[in-house]
Amino acid sequence: HGYTPANGMAPAREAVAASLRRRFGDDAATADDLYLTCGAAASISISLHALVNAGDEVIVIAPYFPEYRVWIETSGASCVEVMADAASFQIDVDAVAAAIGPRTKAIIVNSPNNPVGSVYARENLAALASVLEAADHPIYLIADEPYREIVYGVEVPWIPALYARTIVCYSYSKSLSLPGERIGWVLVPTACPEHDELVPAIAGAGRKLGFVCAPALFQRLLIDCVDVPSDVETYARNRAALTEGLASAGYEFIEPQGAFYLWVRALEEDAEAFFLRARAHELLPVPSNSFGCGGWVRVGYCVSYETIVGSMPAWAALAAEYR
Ligand code: PLP
Repeated sequence: HGYTPANGMAPAREAVAASLRRRFGDDAATADDLYLTCGAAASISISLHALVNAGDEVIVIAPYFPEYRVWIETSGASCVEVMADAASFQIDVDAVAAAIGPRTKAIIVNSPNNPVGSVYARENLAALASVLEAADHPIYLIADEPYREIVYGVEVPWIPALYARTIVCYSYSKSLSLPGERIGWVLVPTACPEHDELVPAIAGAGRKLGFVCAPALFQRLLIDCVDVPSDVETYARNRAALTEGLASAGYEFIEPQGAFYLWVRALEEDAEAFFLRARAHELLPVPSNSFGCGGWVRVGYCVSYETIVGSMPAWAALAAEYR
């Protein structure tokens, strides 16, 4: 239970790096490229503090995980929202290109995505990489990937292979379903042109933010758990029950390719008003305003199967109110 080295104990970092090399190729990671953290929240905060200076801008793809704005603004930068493509919820690469300016320091890319459940396709990420490479100054891509393992039959491309200035932020909160424990990592791949400056900057930012040491017990557990598969079948069963149930009640939604959220069109324009009417039926979908856009709600299906099946009469009654 003692303090470990600031970047994490060597056997744990080696186990993570070896797992990444097995999955994404020999160049994917070395133990020295990794900094173990207290989960993805810490990984992203640390990466932002390592990268940005006051006045910089960080792009997020809306709808987005609301904490991004908080972490970006706490680091001294400002948050620039770029809407995803309205039909596919893939990254609107032209809109990103238009949002890039002299102060753009980074873009956060979250795939599989919270709240929509979309997974960005290889071509979409390659197009984004071309736009970032064409910028006249370095722009970093922060890949927030806690849902990487929770996918329903689609590829989740390894972004560092497409864009060298990628920093990967990971957490075991979702993949091993232990969000109350705090363990994850930041990876600065060796191929990142500023690797040798960024690795110590990450360590310095972790220290500055008070994340002195990722939990030592969980660092030890990682050595045995890095390749434990996620329980995707459980989420897939919930996803099927929820999508089939809501479709037959007449709801429109985006078919999730990953994570455990369903992005459902609100039955009135004002998502907050729709939420209040849903709440009267003891349903608690999150209104989309908190994710940076209007007109939708997010329904989490990381609950029991019985809860999902048991909620269907309430969804039907809510839809009936709007007829
Ligand atoms: N990033 C996204 C997209 C998330 O959905 C979450 C948690 O819900 C986090 C980061 C934070 O993860 P952690 O619990 O590992 O800090």
